[in-house]
Amino acid sequence: MSRLWSALAAGITPYTPGEQPKTANLVKLNTNENPYPPSPKALEAIAAVAPMRLALYPDPESTALREAIARVQGVSANEVFVGNGSDEVLGLVFPAYFGPEAPVRFADITYSFYPVYAALFGMKCDEIPLNDDFSMPVERFFHAPGGVIIANPNAPTGLALEEGALREILQKNDRVVVVDEAYADFGGKSVIPLIREYENLLVVRTLSKSHALAGLRVGYAVANEATLEALFRVKNSFNSYPLDQLAQAAAAAAVLDTEYFEQTRAKIIETRAWFTQEMQSLGFSGPASSANFVFMRHETRSGADVQALLRDNGVLVRRFDRPRIADYMRITIGTPEQMRRLLDVLRAKL
Ligand code: PMP
Repeated sequence: MSRLWSALAAGITPYTPGEQPKTANLVKLNTNENPYPPSPKALEAIAAVAPMRLALYPDPESTALREAIARVQGVSANEVFVGNGSDEVLGLVFPAYFGPEAPVRFADITYSFYPVYAALFGMKCDEIPLNDDFSMPVERFFHAPGGVIIANPNAPTGLALEEGALREILQKNDRVVVVDEAYADFGGKSVIPLIREYENLLVVRTLSKSHALAGLRVGYAVANEATLEALFRVKNSFNSYPLDQLAQAAAAAAVLDTEYFEQTRAKIIETRAWFTQEMQSLGFSGPASSANFVFMRHETRSGADVQALLRDNGVLVRRFDRPRIADYMRITIGTPEQMRRLLDVLRAKL
């Protein structure tokens, strides 16, 4: 703390991302990255960028990338906005659609960055407690005067909401409903096809998980053109060039390589089914996951104990020391070999 800080900088509590360890040889299952490399076409696209392209500013509108996303998602490029990771897109969403007049509504157990953005922009939060089984009390998301944000599938629970419930929430809200689909490719159904039906729908997505590009930092939003324009206005008041030349080229190539994407996500979904069963046989349980992670707790051992045991044996998982979920571990689905290492530790030491 220094007297030179603004009141805002002094008053905020920043988001803490999962640990990125410096030591090799750890099994890293704590930040929901993809265990497979990105599409080889993404790497070819980076290699093909001419050196002079790095000497010049990139396309501020990321046109080719937005066209690639639009093609794959069946929308028009004017309905796509891109940013430096979906965290940046979400960060711009708050001032673009929400305000200090009325609180932003979201679940009490969801992506813990949402309250951080709200605080940064001087907004209040209206946190709705999830049901005991972590399902959404859908009616409580109706008529939110300040707008709504929902992660679907939810994080860290992995539970997905039915399209019918989302339609009801969209119909019964006058303000923007943001649906954060960071994990939708692993089991949830996307509501992108609904953007022309609901002008208040804004879908946020990322290439970090299902396209194995967390290190490239590319996320996007899809909405009806008039709704989306607010996001361009805010972005162009903050950073004209959020995506660099290499990110634009590689992300477009990765998005268009749908065959590779289908292969890797199928492998993760298959590993999730097998791993969940193995964990159940060891006394773990949790909600049915539609994401690239599972959220599970042991029948007798505390979350802190199990996490420490894994950590001491070279396996990193994430745990949130918060009411109701402190005994759960959020375990990213890695390769079958990585999951076997985790299971071996539990079998030997639990
Ligand atoms: N939304 C949710 C629900 C997430 O879990 C994450 C990953 N931490 C993000 C958005 C942000 O992902 P990225 O910035 O890598 O696109």
